[in-house]
Amino acid sequence: MFGFGASVRTQTPEFNQEKAWDFLLAQTDLGPRAPGTDGHYLARDLFVSTFRKYTDRVTEQEFTHTYPYENNAYNFANIIAEFGPESGERILLGAHWDTRPWADKEPDFRKRSQPITGANDGASGVAVLLELARVFHEQPPPIPVTIVLFDAEDMGKSNMLDEYAVGSRYYANQLESPEHYRYAVVVDMVGDADLRIPMEANSLRITPALTRHIWGIADSLGYDEFVDQAGDPIHDDHLMLYRHAGIPAVDIIDFHYPNRYQNFWHTLKDTPDKCSPRSLKIVGDVLVHLVYGNQPVLQGDRE
Ligand SMILES: [Zn+2]
Repeated sequence: MFGFGASVRTQTPEFNQEKAWDFLLAQTDLGPRAPGTDGHYLARDLFVSTFRKYTDRVTEQEFTHTYPYENNAYNFANIIAEFGPESGERILLGAHWDTRPWADKEPDFRKRSQPITGANDGASGVAVLLELARVFHEQPPPIPVTIVLFDAEDMGKSNMLDEYAVGSRYYANQLESPEHYRYAVVVDMVGDADLRIPMEANSLRITPALTRHIWGIADSLGYDEFVDQAGDPIHDDHLMLYRHAGIPAVDIIDFHYPNRYQNFWHTLKDTPDKCSPRSLKIVGDVLVHLVYGNQPVLQGDRE
């Protein structure tokens, strides 16, 4: 393209993978961010101060929750940052920021009461969203975006699903005008160096058009890490947004970490060396193109 008379075209801004990676390490450097620990408080401060660099609309939504298997109530906070025009239809991008207090999938049962580092399960999704916040500050998104870092996602137990995703359920139940949200995208476990992201089965069932739109963006960018296949159903924050606020919601998650034959999920092996800046970049690029591209028509995606 050359100078005079050339049409003005909005450039899609650049998602910086080194910066995203630094945001991942900034979290894991704090140690485990399990509720009630120093790491949890420090991480919360980190997120608030980082968001405040990029927007003056940052909210800490505090709440408490008592788990049936814990003696005391815990203090939690969802961290909310808003970008772009202050009114009108918007989209929501979310990730959970707490890390699991117990490595209960650790092969060595003596280590199962130790907290995980959560480089992938926790830090990776947040890292992508913090870098997106920087991008939104550089070039305001054409549609308003609300970023929410959900607390209290990962203190559930397998036989008590309601004790998972407590923060996103609280957020969804408190939301005053959920109809303003066109859709939501949740990112979780997106840092795996061996990245493979099928279409999460619940997303495909409840929000098929948006799911296919997102995987289509990945395909157009040449990212075959987004696999055009249905994956396992995952109980995650997106279900709370859909069930309790009626927001069409998709979960971008690579649950098999690192693959079907080995498992680092909810073990002490969930550390930065199992993750890669490139994986954050792939997911970040897809989200940048989702936000700055033409918005999808979501026929059938809202009840
Ligand atoms: Zn987890």
